[in-house]
Amino acid sequence: MARQAGSSYGNPMNGVSPGSNPAPRSVTILGATGSVGTSTVDLLRRDRARYRVEALSAKKSAGALAQLARDLGARFAAVADTGAYRDLKDALGASSIEAAAGEDAVIEAARRPADWVMAAVSGATGLRATMAAVERGAMVALCNKECLVCAGSLFMRRAAETGATILPADSEHNAVFQAFGAGRREDVRRVILTASGGPFRTWSMEAIRTATVEQALRHPNWSMGPKITIDSATLMNKGLEVIEAHHLFALAPDEIDVLVHPQSIVHAMVEFRDGSLVAQLGPPDMRIPISHCLGWPARIDSPAARLDLDRMATLSFEPPDVARFPALGLARRAMETGNGAPTVLNAANEVAVAEFMAGRLSFGGIAALVATAMEAAFARGIMCEPASVEDAVAVDHVSRSLTLSLLPEIAAKAS
Ligand code: MG
Repeated sequence: MARQAGSSYGNPMNGVSPGSNPAPRSVTILGATGSVGTSTVDLLRRDRARYRVEALSAKKSAGALAQLARDLGARFAAVADTGAYRDLKDALGASSIEAAAGEDAVIEAARRPADWVMAAVSGATGLRATMAAVERGAMVALCNKECLVCAGSLFMRRAAETGATILPADSEHNAVFQAFGAGRREDVRRVILTASGGPFRTWSMEAIRTATVEQALRHPNWSMGPKITIDSATLMNKGLEVIEAHHLFALAPDEIDVLVHPQSIVHAMVEFRDGSLVAQLGPPDMRIPISHCLGWPARIDSPAARLDLDRMATLSFEPPDVARFPALGLARRAMETGNGAPTVLNAANEVAVAEFMAGRLSFGGIAALVATAMEAAFARGIMCEPASVEDAVAVDHVSRSLTLSLLPEIAAKAS
């Protein structure tokens, strides 16, 4: 049986005695120099004896990657950007750490024999490497939501077939995973993912449309990479997370709700058939969900601040406003359409966010461009279900060109 952690019945800790695992866990981090990678490294450094680092990868920060590889005693370091190979090699100097570059090198990092792999590459480019870790049946802490958005059915099916353990590291999904432990899967009625609402939660539709990059990057609670921060401002991030939950926990679209919760303390809730709502709470610090995955099935210490509920004035919840944040509605529609629709949605959104950050598209233009690209993809019949990673990558590429071809028209209209 697949050890898909999120859909396991009852408490995943049953039958396991925490703390009884003296052998070091070998770990690999894909996306080691990003925000999640840095939090993961911070946890490894606090208990060096418990972990052995097999491989680390980064997009192009050769110097930072080499430094990490040396400090952590990694065996293999890979940069995705082939242009950064020389810098990586030079920075590793006479050390015995193997250096490699290119997409295949990142896949090689995932293939190397680590017990546990943190999949924290941002965007659809993380799909191939994460799948390589799944293919060898590894324990995969999943932060790259694009694997589930772009090829969710395939990804979960391969995980079941290879016996890979998927540990949800995205904070909301990790919260669902933890709350699932309170009952049996068949007794779950729905899950509620919370959203901070982003920096424009209280803004008017007009003000949101013309928001600047700087304003969109000012997230009220979480400190994250730029792409996901923009996605949090449009609420597309929550839309992608709804699709992520749909695959990860085998939930029907109407079993997944979203609530805006500006304090980002309750990360998700699971409602059981008897009316019990089980929530996971914590400060907005990614080291908590990452710790849960890193130690799983045991709990390990984390340096995150403890919640001080008596000093917290209120925890509030409100329904999301899809009129002001249309990206959430687009993501839901993509999930309900199924097949390749979420792959198209994700590709169009990655292009739209990049164009917004480059100053060539307004904030309001992001959702407008994604909506237009989805209609065009539907009309052209390129929304078939990806049967392989190559299929998903092909749909992703076609969708990117299609989105770029629609950009001038939408940029002119939405300016
Ligand atoms: Mg999240």
